[in-house]
Amino acid sequence: MSTTGTVLIVGAGQAGSELAAELRTQGHTGRVVMIGDEAGLPYKRPPLSKGFLTGAIPAEQLLIRNAAVYEKNNIEFIGGTSVTAIDRAAKTVTLSDGQTLGYDKLALTTGGRARPLPVMGADMANVMSLRSQTDAEKIREHLVAGHRLVIIGGGYIGLEIAAVAVKAGLEVTVLESAPRVLARVTAPEMSAFYTRVHREAGVEIQVGVQIAALENDGKKVSAVILADGNRVAADVVIVGIGLIPNTELATAAGLAVDNGIVVDEYGQTSDSDIVASGDCANRPSPLLGGRVRLESVPNAMDQARHAARLLVGQPKAYDELPWFWSDQYELKLQMCGLSSGYDQVVIRGSTETRAFSAFYLKDGRIIAADAVSQLKDFGVMKKLVGARATVAAERLADTTLLLKDLAVEAGL
Ligand code: NAP
Repeated sequence: MSTTGTVLIVGAGQAGSELAAELRTQGHTGRVVMIGDEAGLPYKRPPLSKGFLTGAIPAEQLLIRNAAVYEKNNIEFIGGTSVTAIDRAAKTVTLSDGQTLGYDKLALTTGGRARPLPVMGADMANVMSLRSQTDAEKIREHLVAGHRLVIIGGGYIGLEIAAVAVKAGLEVTVLESAPRVLARVTAPEMSAFYTRVHREAGVEIQVGVQIAALENDGKKVSAVILADGNRVAADVVIVGIGLIPNTELATAAGLAVDNGIVVDEYGQTSDSDIVASGDCANRPSPLLGGRVRLESVPNAMDQARHAARLLVGQPKAYDELPWFWSDQYELKLQMCGLSSGYDQVVIRGSTETRAFSAFYLKDGRIIAADAVSQLKDFGVMKKLVGARATVAAERLADTTLLLKDLAVEAGL
C-alpha cells in the first residue's frame, strides 16, 4: 500500500533510523525527514562501551546505514538540531534553529539520556557518562594505563567499561549502591558470577555503598567520598547509573506520559497522528503481563518497524519477547524475557566453566533466561521463555539432556 504525506521523525537513533527505512520498505512515497540533535547520521550505541572503546571498531563501522542508503531512499536528515516544541493543532514542530516544519504524521524516537549523579562536583572535567559517540571518544582519551578509574554504577555500562579499562591497564573500582551488581536485570547467582569474573580480572567491586561527595579542586575530582566516610582516590570517574527517557517534548505537547511516552500495541500515542518507539516509549505487553518501557536495541528496532507499519495503514500488534546482550571480557551474556517476579532460579551447567545458563521460573513456568557464552542454546531458550514453557527444574539443570529435546517435550 502506498501512502503519501510528510512523516517527521524526531530522534535519529536506532529506532529513528529503523522507522525511516521501514516506511520506505512499506511503500510510503511521501517525504520522510529524520531530525537528530547529534551532528552525524544514526549510529549503533552498543559498541560504545565495548569495541569502540578498545579501538577495535572504528567510527565508520558504527553507522547503522551509510549516507548513500538514506540518499537512495530519499530520507532527509537534519542533524545537530533538536525539536523544541510540537504544535499538535497546527501539526508543526519547531526546531532549535527557529525553523518550523509541518507534518502529516510524527514519530517520536527520542531515546534517553544518562542519569546524572546528584552530587556536587559531578560536572567536573574528569567525571563522565557514556551515551553518545562523543562521550565514548572522551572516555577513550582517559583510558590511560596506571590511572585510577572509579566507576559509579555496576550496571551494563559500568561493568562493560570496567572490563575494557582493566584490560587497558587502569586500576578500576566499581561502586554500586545496590547490594549486588546487575541487580536490575539478573539473579543473585549471575551477579555473584560477574562479580567473581571482574575481581579475578583485577577490578575492585564495592556494593551497597552510597556516594556522599566528589572531592575536587573546582576543576577536577580527586576522590569519591562514600557515605561511610571511606575515600576512593580517582584520576577519572565514570557514572553509569541508568537512563532517563526523553519524554519532555511529549509531555509539553500534552501527550500521555507515564514512565515513557504511552503507546498502544501498534505504537500509537494518545494522538492518532503521532507514534513513539524505543527507549522513550511505554507499551503494553500481554506476554510480559503489563506495560513495559524497555531499554534495548532489539526492542527499539522492532517497535519502530511496527510503528512504521501503522503509519502506512498496515498495523500489526507488537509484543515480541524482549532480549538483551552484554559483552564483558570474552564472555557473551544473552538474556531473554524479564525475570522480575521469579520464584526459582535453575542454573544449567557450572558457573566455574564460564559457559552456563540461568532459567527464571514462576509457578513452574520459565519466564526469563540468561545465557553466558551459550550461543547455540540461546535460540531454544527464547522459545522456552516465549512459550512460558513448563520443564521440571531437575531436567532443566541436567546438562546430559539437550535443551532442544526439552523444548520438544514441552510441545515446542
Ligand atoms: P543500568 O543498567 O540501569 O545500571 C545502573 C546501575 O547503577 C544500577 O545497578 C543502579 O542500581 C546503579 N546506581 C543507581 N544510582 C546509583 C548511585 N547513585 N550510586 C551507585 N550506583 C547507582 O544503567 P547503565 O548501566 O547506566 O546503562 C544505561 C543504559 O544503557 C541502559 O539503558 C542500558 O540498558 C544501556 N546499556 C545497555 C548495554 C547492554 O545491553 N549490553 C550496555 C551498555 C548500556 P539500582 O538499580 O539500585 O538503581
